[in-house]
Amino acid sequence: MDFHLTKFQQDIFELVKDVSIKKLNDGNIFEDDDKQAFSREKWKSCAETDIFALSLEEQYGGMGESMLTMALAIQALGRYCNDEGLIFSACAHFCTCIVPIWQLGTEFLKEKYLPKLLTGEYIGGNGSTEADAGSDLSSMITKVTKDGNDYLLNGSKIFVTNGPIADVLILYGIHQDGIKLANISGFVVEKGFLGASVGQTFHKMGLRTSPLAEIILNDCRIPEENLLGRERFGIMGFNKSMYWERILMSAYHLGAMEQQFNIALDYSKKRKQFNTRIKDFQSVSNKLVEMRANIETSKWLLYNVCWKYDTGKVDLADASMVKLVVSNAKVKNSLDAVQIFGAYGYMKEYLVEKQLRDSIAATIYSGTSEIQKKIISENLENIDG
Ligand SMILES: Cc1cc2nc3c(=O)[nH]c(=O)nc-3n(C[C@H](O)[C@H](O)[C@H](O)COP(=O)(O)OP(=O)(O)OC[C@H]3O[C@@H](n4cnc5c(N)ncnc54)[C@H](O)[C@@H]3O)c2cc1C
Repeated sequence: MDFHLTKFQQDIFELVKDVSIKKLNDGNIFEDDDKQAFSREKWKSCAETDIFALSLEEQYGGMGESMLTMALAIQALGRYCNDEGLIFSACAHFCTCIVPIWQLGTEFLKEKYLPKLLTGEYIGGNGSTEADAGSDLSSMITKVTKDGNDYLLNGSKIFVTNGPIADVLILYGIHQDGIKLANISGFVVEKGFLGASVGQTFHKMGLRTSPLAEIILNDCRIPEENLLGRERFGIMGFNKSMYWERILMSAYHLGAMEQQFNIALDYSKKRKQFNTRIKDFQSVSNKLVEMRANIETSKWLLYNVCWKYDTGKVDLADASMVKLVVSNAKVKNSLDAVQIFGAYGYMKEYLVEKQLRDSIAATIYSGTSEIQKKIISENLENIDG
C-alpha cells in the first residue's frame, strides 16, 4: 500500500473542505435539523465539487479516479460539513442509484441518467426494504409482472432515503415464479412514471435533513429499457450498491468522528472543574484516547479496503468488516463525546447532541451490524491467518 496521497487527492480534499466551510455550513443547522429541512442549494454546492463524478470513467462524464479518492472526498465532507443528513443523502444518491446504473445498466440507461445524476441535477436513491422485508430481502412482496413491452410493479417500499425529493429511484420487485432471491429484478423508475407516488414520510431521530419516505407502486408502468441489467439479476444491483455504500458511508463516519474528536478535545481543554482542565482528569483523557484509537482503526481499515478494491480484490465481506467496525466506533465515540460535555452535551444547541442522534442509525442502514457479522462469518473459512 502506498500511503502518499496524490496531488489530485490532496486537491479534492481541500476543495471539499473549502466548500463545506463556506457553503454547506451556511445557515442554522439546528433549525434545519428541527424542521427536517433538506436544502437544494446545499445539494447543488455539494455536487459542484464533482464529488459524484470522481470514480466513473470519463465516457460517462466521470474523472476516472479510484475508490480511495472518492472515500477521501467523502471523508472531507464528514470532517468539515456539519449537516450529516446532507452527507447521508449524497452517499445514498451515489451508492444506491449511480453505482448500479453505472455498473449494471445498459448503455441506454447510462447515457440517459448518469449525466444528470453526476451533476446533481437529478437526485437518486433506492427502495429495497418493505414493511415486512428488511434484512431478509427474499421476503419482499412487491410484485413484478410483464404487460406487453412494459413491466408493472405493485406493492410499496418503505424507508426510502431521498424518496420525497428523488427524480430517479432504483426499485426492486419480485417475479412470482421461481426461487426467491434469484427472482428479484431492479428497475430505474422516474418521478413521473404512472403509478408511482410518495406515501408516508417519516420523522427520524437523526439525519433529519435527509428526507425519508414510503413509495407506493400501484400498477407502476416501467418501459422495458428501464430494467436494471438483466431480468431476475436485481440482487446483483443491490449487492453492488451495498458494497459501495458500506465503504463510502464509513468514509463519511470517519470524517464525522474526526470533526467530533476536535470538538470534544477543544471543550476538554477549556472546561475547568476542581480548578483543573477536565482533559487532565485521566477518566476524561482515556475517553479521548479511545476515541482517537477508534478513528485510527477506522481510517486504516477503510483505506485498506479501498486499496483492495482499486487493485482488483473485491470481497463483500471486506465491505461488511469496515461497516461493522466503523459504525460501532461512531456510536461509541458519539456517546463518549456527550459524556465529556456533561449536561451541555445533552442540550440541543450543542453539535455533540446532534452527532449522537445522527450516529445511531449507522448500525442499522446498509444492513444491520448483525447482518454484517453474518456475512463475515460465512466468509471466515476463506481467510488464512
Ligand atoms: C436512516 C435509514 C435510512 C434507510 N434508507 C433506506 C433506503 O434508502 N432504501 C431502503 O430500501 N432501505 C432503507 N433503510 C432500511 C434499512 O435498509 C433497514 O432498516 C435494514 O435493512 C434492517 O431492516 P429492518 O429495519 O426491517 O430490521 P429487521 O430486518 O426486522 O431486523 C430487526 C432486528 O433483527 C436482527 N436480525 C434480522 N435478521 C437477522 C439474522 N439473520 N441474524 C441476526 N439478526 C437478525 C436485525 O439485525 C435487527 O437487529 C433505511 C433505514 C434507516 C434507519
